[in-house]
Amino acid sequence: MNDPSQIKKNQHREALHLANPQRIQLFQRALLKWYEENGRDLPWRHTRDPYRILVSEIMLHQTQVDRVIPKYHEFLAAYPTFEALAAAPVEEVQQLWRPLGYNFRPGRLHQIAQNVVANYNSQLPTTIKELMALPGIGRYTAGAILSFAFHKDAPILDTNAQRVLQRYFEVTGDPMRAPAKNQLWYLAELVIPLGKAYLFNQAILDFGALQCTSKKPSCQICPLIKKCPYGKSHRVA
Ligand code: SF4
Repeated sequence: MNDPSQIKKNQHREALHLANPQRIQLFQRALLKWYEENGRDLPWRHTRDPYRILVSEIMLHQTQVDRVIPKYHEFLAAYPTFEALAAAPVEEVQQLWRPLGYNFRPGRLHQIAQNVVANYNSQLPTTIKELMALPGIGRYTAGAILSFAFHKDAPILDTNAQRVLQRYFEVTGDPMRAPAKNQLWYLAELVIPLGKAYLFNQAILDFGALQCTSKKPSCQICPLIKKCPYGKSHRVA
């Protein structure tokens, strides 16, 4: 019997006529080199502690990096471990978080901490299924934890990565809906160089945030310009 996941992959491959090995290799090399020269030095990139990476990822949802940095340090000083967070009164955690906005997030983080302490011996689980069963952890956050904390080749897809992939591989349609959404997840996994998801995922996030931006992408100085259909047709200085 045919494997349904393989059938889906074959359908994505047929739809994505630009996702050939040569273009993928160019994409990987260009992004890794660009990241070496332009990557941001962010505090959560100095740790492999799954708890700290989880805190940073939850804080970064819908919130700019420069607003997150001071709150990240303050939060970790108050609650340095899952145990410390789980034991704190949720109202106190919410109070500390409040200026960051999207104030349902501290409650979710607190629930995750209590769940991890009670069921996983205070260690985050390492499978996508278990991570996504925790409150507030979706596919992106699970991929970020697996690649940034556990060094697994797991894909991530936020609005920045989505935009870069969509432009370079000419994915058409609404990226929030099938089939474009599924094609983008397929690509996000396909483009990870073997064993390098940690670096590559950081690279695509920064590349989308700084170079291939939503309104004014720097196509003129982009290492992908010769092969990027969007860049060639929308050259913006
Ligand atoms: S050429 Fe422009 S649109 Fe294409 S990847 Fe580079 S910055 Fe983005």
